[in-house]
Amino acid sequence: MPDTSEHIVIVGAGAAGLMAAREFARAGKRVTVLEARDRCGGRIHPLPTSRFGYPADGGAEFVHGEAPVTRGLLSEAGLSLQTIEGTRWSFDGTRLSREGRDNPHEAELHAALGDLNDDLTVAEFLRRHFAGDEYAPMRHAIERMVEGYDAADPERASTLALREEWMDGGHHSQGRVVGGYGALIAFLAAECCKHGVVIRLDCAVVAIEESTAVVVRCAGGEAIACDRVILTVPLPLLREIALPQAARELAAAAADIGFGNVIKILLRFSRPWWRGKTGDLADLTFLLSDETIPVWWTQNPSEHPVLTGWFGGPRTAALTGLNRQALIDAGIDSLATIFGLTRDDLERDLVAAEAANWAHDAFARGAYSWATPRTRAAQERLARADGTVLFSGEALYRGRDMGTVEAALASGLETAGLILQR
Ligand SMILES: Cc1cc2nc3c(=O)[nH]c(=O)nc-3n(C[C@H](O)[C@H](O)[C@H](O)COP(=O)(O)OP(=O)(O)OC[C@H]3O[C@@H](n4cnc5c(N)ncnc54)[C@H](O)[C@@H]3O)c2cc1C
Repeated sequence: MPDTSEHIVIVGAGAAGLMAAREFARAGKRVTVLEARDRCGGRIHPLPTSRFGYPADGGAEFVHGEAPVTRGLLSEAGLSLQTIEGTRWSFDGTRLSREGRDNPHEAELHAALGDLNDDLTVAEFLRRHFAGDEYAPMRHAIERMVEGYDAADPERASTLALREEWMDGGHHSQGRVVGGYGALIAFLAAECCKHGVVIRLDCAVVAIEESTAVVVRCAGGEAIACDRVILTVPLPLLREIALPQAARELAAAAADIGFGNVIKILLRFSRPWWRGKTGDLADLTFLLSDETIPVWWTQNPSEHPVLTGWFGGPRTAALTGLNRQALIDAGIDSLATIFGLTRDDLERDLVAAEAANWAHDAFARGAYSWATPRTRAAQERLARADGTVLFSGEALYRGRDMGTVEAALASGLETAGLILQR
């Protein structure tokens, strides 16, 4: 007979929450998932196929590196991965050119990184080892990567955590789920339901109380009694939920984990006009620049004529006053400058547009976490599984690609494993 005596409430139906829920339910536990939004997936946010011609991802889009848990799940779900191929370009303010990967100081950088034993922030590392003018382009490229890719602040980001990323130039393999990340979430949610998990949408948790039993309170006034709660909400949301004292003290450790922001803009055109701009842009993948919306990518090798704009890191705060339409306009202006076109040229071909500043999302308050020199110690504290209120989610993952879907899935799996082993 399955052990349904223990009732576990999971707060958040994102990748981590659903992954943990499935594990518990498969082990026979009674599981309720409480989700504030009207959908599952959290920071995985598929947009309607009718708008972009395919299930475009408004949130997470890429599968980074080996991602063993993600790949295992994809194979279970019968979903496949499309590897990204093509060329990277950059715009230096005047002209477009193929992105050069050769850094004349690469050997020095690797030596300095290799010698590092004690962690320090990226900004401090660069000041200490690469302060000269001759290193200015390398410093700029590293800062651009830390801010843009990791959504992190170089003045706080851990050098040790980013060392591997730089060692291979930050270009480990990337792919996309065919059918989008939403297909993976749909599979996980269906698996949960099949194993008896109750998923309650539109249920924003506002407080967790602990006396003889644990009680989870939702914004609508509902109270749910249970034996254990697992919080998988994004880090900034931890501050918005009233917690019992022991859990609140633990949650304070989250201050040592960075949490970055991203602005993502999707523009669908009637034709892939950029291919004709310069013959070589036919297989464009990523385009880097210093424009307001600095990074752009295509759907290559898929044919969808969609350009996605990306701006990550602390400097996104400068655009906080821009609403959705103003962000779309900023994206169009950036593209016009990069390609030497006018707004009218671009708007003539524009079919659909979407933009989100994730800092404004009430149930994310940003995009994803990144490591400071104090993050590993904070994660050790937060990931403890000996209380009745536990923490899980991408920010607690101690592997290489923190802040990813893989990190969330692996963290959910780890939390469930720790409890089930006992
Ligand atoms: C724009 C963007 C692009 C990204 N790109 C990539 C990428 O290309 N590749 C990649 O691997 N990762 C990417 N990520 C990161 C990735 O999406 C996350 O790391 C991952 O999805 C986090 O999963 P999670 O389960 O830990 O958290 P979430 O997905 O945030 O799940 C937590 C859930 O908790 C819910 N919640 C919040 N507050 C409450 C409350 N009070 N009560 C109840 N429920 C609540 C939320 O609504 C959410 O559904 C991106 C993220 C963003 C925002």
